[in-house]
Amino acid sequence: MHNAAFEALKMNWAYLAFQVAPQDLRTALQGARDMGIVGINLTVPHKILALDCIDEIDAEASKLGAVNTIAMERGKIRGFNTDGYGFLKAIKEEFNLSIRGKRILVLGAGGAGRGIAVKCALDGAARVVVANRTLTKIVPIAQEIRNTKTEFLSIALIPDEIRRVIPEVDLVVNATSVGLKDGDSLGLGADLFSPRLRVYDTIYRPAETELLQIAGGAGAQVANGLGMLLHQGAKAFEIWTKRKAPLAVMRRALRTAVYGDKS
Ligand code: NAP
Repeated sequence: MHNAAFEALKMNWAYLAFQVAPQDLRTALQGARDMGIVGINLTVPHKILALDCIDEIDAEASKLGAVNTIAMERGKIRGFNTDGYGFLKAIKEEFNLSIRGKRILVLGAGGAGRGIAVKCALDGAARVVVANRTLTKIVPIAQEIRNTKTEFLSIALIPDEIRRVIPEVDLVVNATSVGLKDGDSLGLGADLFSPRLRVYDTIYRPAETELLQIAGGAGAQVANGLGMLLHQGAKAFEIWTKRKAPLAVMRRALRTAVYGDKS
């Protein structure tokens, strides 16, 4: 999507993928800076490791606990997080929903779960519930949300606990990696969902996870994570280039790359 955007704006730039081992992240970032590379996106496991390898961190990235975008500015390696922004834009676009005053259940407390839960609190959610298999991973999220006005609750990622809290949420977000593989199941039945609920899965491949099938079948409004991917990328593009991202071009390129969709 970035290369399509550069082409559309007639910019002589290129976006390339590099495989970097975790122990090499610091030297890779320094090398990129010294070679005049303008910006970088990071993915797992680098999003969290980067916190120790950068010169400056944007305030929001620090609260969200992860860096997915690097910009080389005035010789400094600066870290940003555009995943939280991408999530909010996607929710607005897919469900016409603003997070302010809403109650959100986030499944997962890894990098994506933390980013989404904290971003919702920073954006004025009334209540954030985080469900995770490993309860200790919820502790840093609770600490960050405690500094906001949002009510916070942590629960185990099991159907009985989810059944208890789901009547009091407006939006359910899957930020676990359950659903990426064929046959993956969160074990949540159709009886948990209803037409008043919105269900967002951060997974975009496959396009329809078991969660979205079940929730959609029960009448809930559902959407997958492609919009989040698009909008985090568009925001990174604007940080690097200081130009407005050509969203329609990027969306088309992304759909073609992910789904082979030429429409
Ligand atoms: P991560 O840091 O590795 O976290 C993985 C999460 O999944 C943890 O909460 C983990 O629970 C949970 N999990 C994994 N296997 C599980 C299982 N068998 N049962 C229950 N829970 C399980 O990864 P991440 O970066 O947060 O990514 C999570 C998901 O978000 C991925 O599917 C990724 O594709 C998606 N994502 C999408 C976008 C987008 O733009 N659409 C951006 C970022 C991430 P434990 O803590 O108990 O291990």
